[in-house]
Amino acid sequence: MSLVNQPRKEPEREAAEVLRELTNRGFSAYMVGGCVRDKLLKREFCDIDIATSALPEQVRAVFAANPAVEIIPTGEKHGTLTVRFPLSGNSFEVTTYRLDGEYSDSRRPESVEFVADIAADLSRRDFTVNAIAYDVFSDEYIDPFGGIADIQRKIIRAVGNPAERFTEDALRIMRALRFSAVLGFEIEAETRESAISLVPKIRNVSSERISGEFVKTLTAEFADDALISELGLRIVEQIMPEFRTIINVPHENKWHCCDIYEHTLKVVSGCSGRTLRLAAFFHDLGKGLTKTRGSDGYSHYYGHQEYSELLTRKIMTRLRFSTREIDLVCTLVLYHDAVDGRLSHTSAFTKRLLNKISPETFELLLDLSEADVRAHVPALREHKGKILAQIREDLRYITANKLPYSVRDLALSGSDIMREFSLPPGPLIGELLEYCVEAVIDGTANEKAELLTVIRSKLAE
Ligand code: ATP
Ligand code: MG
Repeated sequence: MSLVNQPRKEPEREAAEVLRELTNRGFSAYMVGGCVRDKLLKREFCDIDIATSALPEQVRAVFAANPAVEIIPTGEKHGTLTVRFPLSGNSFEVTTYRLDGEYSDSRRPESVEFVADIAADLSRRDFTVNAIAYDVFSDEYIDPFGGIADIQRKIIRAVGNPAERFTEDALRIMRALRFSAVLGFEIEAETRESAISLVPKIRNVSSERISGEFVKTLTAEFADDALISELGLRIVEQIMPEFRTIINVPHENKWHCCDIYEHTLKVVSGCSGRTLRLAAFFHDLGKGLTKTRGSDGYSHYYGHQEYSELLTRKIMTRLRFSTREIDLVCTLVLYHDAVDGRLSHTSAFTKRLLNKISPETFELLLDLSEADVRAHVPALREHKGKILAQIREDLRYITANKLPYSVRDLALSGSDIMREFSLPPGPLIGELLEYCVEAVIDGTANEKAELLTVIRSKLAE
């Protein structure tokens, strides 16, 4: 387990310090939002958010004389300042109690209205489980909407009228799904029906908010249950209509026992981490476009990897993922079927693939392939699982022993070739170097004289 996931005592102590300073000056202040929910669930939490009756300038004044903290104006217009402890690196968002103003287009409130009362502040929050405040000094909860009971019953329920709340901010529709995926909770019937019927409103939400929320859902513990639910399917079809080509489309071959989208979700749950889950989610997306019926009576998906990659790039670009992340996920998607279960693979295969992707990406690819294999019928699982294990061993041996597999590793350079054969710079030199790499992978000794001989005979062809 990484240090980041360890429960940290320090933040709670420092949060209490912030709360104490505010209450000492006569303001009321509470822990609110996700940290209270997670505290009640005895789950680890990352951020501690604080709500207070103090106005932003009053919060600023309270901490102005405190040398241990700095104040960052995160979103002063919306009432939020960040109080940061530079020594520990902990920071806390302190937000004035507020009501949200008009939402003109399901995006963000045009304005906010500061209010004096925590109950009013809780009423603007999305779900009952997120609308509880905690008083650290009296150890009491303020729970006007029955959030604690909903936590006990494992229910996500909108605060107030669900249709109104989803119309105000359509991201809440995705947040309902996300919290069900993270907590394994059911979405209460009225909240769920409203969410389902208002899914088209998500088109008004910015791409950045959509992708942020989608990734949180995809990386959650119960992502597969959430994404196969009716609300999950509607959301996926809304934000990525490309998925309509694999949802409810049977595989119709002997390797799979479920439809393409269900198989996709099985692979997702077999993967951990953001990159792998994204790659898993997109890996078979090209199957809908490439499905053909063979003379053997089974369906085939020749070239689906390329189509999957194409669609992945299109979707991730539209949803404004970073270029770096798009490239990595696309590489994994493109090569997810590189290991063919019907062939036996030599270490030359591993070296050839290493010549295209980095060792780190290769490890991820093997993780993805293993999850993919586990989501196939048992016959393929065992056979291909062994092949993958062998390739992983080869990969580690090759990198640990620095065996040559790329132009970088060759015992001769482009200038050697130009000098020896009086050739000008140009693409031919690169081609000859790659030719040498192939020769070395196939067993030619990685020595200058040997490689010059290889080139000489190639040029004589
Ligand atoms: P986590 O931090 O684990 O993602 P969280 O519940 O803290 O979960 P945040 O997005 O950090 O979620 O928001 C903090 C709190 O602010 C929420 O618990 C909720 O009370 C409120 N909130 C956030 N976004 C919205 C929204 N779009 N509509 C209404 N209330 C919201
Ligand atoms: Mg939070």
